[in-house]
Amino acid sequence: MFDHNASKNIMRIYKMKELIFATNNPHKLREIQYLLGDNFKLISLKDLDFLEDIPETGDTLEKNASQKANFIYKLFNRDVFADDTGLEIDALKGKPGVHSARYAGQEKNSAANTKRVIYELKNVRNRKARFRTVISLIINGKEHSFEGIVEGIILKSQHGQKGFGYDPVFQPSGYSQTFAEMELKQKNLISHRAIAFKKLVGFLKKDVY
Ligand code: IMP
Repeated sequence: MFDHNASKNIMRIYKMKELIFATNNPHKLREIQYLLGDNFKLISLKDLDFLEDIPETGDTLEKNASQKANFIYKLFNRDVFADDTGLEIDALKGKPGVHSARYAGQEKNSAANTKRVIYELKNVRNRKARFRTVISLIINGKEHSFEGIVEGIILKSQHGQKGFGYDPVFQPSGYSQTFAEMELKQKNLISHRAIAFKKLVGFLKKDVY
């Protein structure tokens, strides 16, 4: 007997477009695959047996996202996207910005980075800051950029245990909790990354698929 479901599945697999996500972070990969549904199949760097660090030498998030996407595009000649995120603090003239991961030294030490920010903002009244994510997508040989921003303030001390990075000191505007006090589900609804990735997913579903 003809199996309509099997036939539909074959059609879906046939139509599924493959896209490299230039990341080694399995959490990000799973989250974005979920948002994309089954129109696109994400390929990770691990799937490609690429386990090195991609060069990130730009002085802006835009340059770094683009550099990472172009690096992988040139290596594999396949559709790809890459992201870069930074915390921009007004009183520190946009720092740590592109240096967010290594603000307190070479190692990616979130506790030390957060302590440095608290210290540098001691006795500073202007606490305004934002998380900004930039995504660079190269598809069908053309590059596109997407941005997500969440505004907020830096608290004087750490609050909450959830999340990662600067979450314990970042309180988004309109909320009384830091990102580290929020459930992940709540953070993922309003975060800089969610905003940028929703733009990317909207573009892929509307303009490409
Ligand atoms: P990446 O570009 O996503 O690797 O982010 C660079 C750095 O920014 C991370 O190592 C963290 O220190 C910081 N960061 C990025 N996203 C977040 C976030 O959602 N909460 C707190 N810190 C973050």
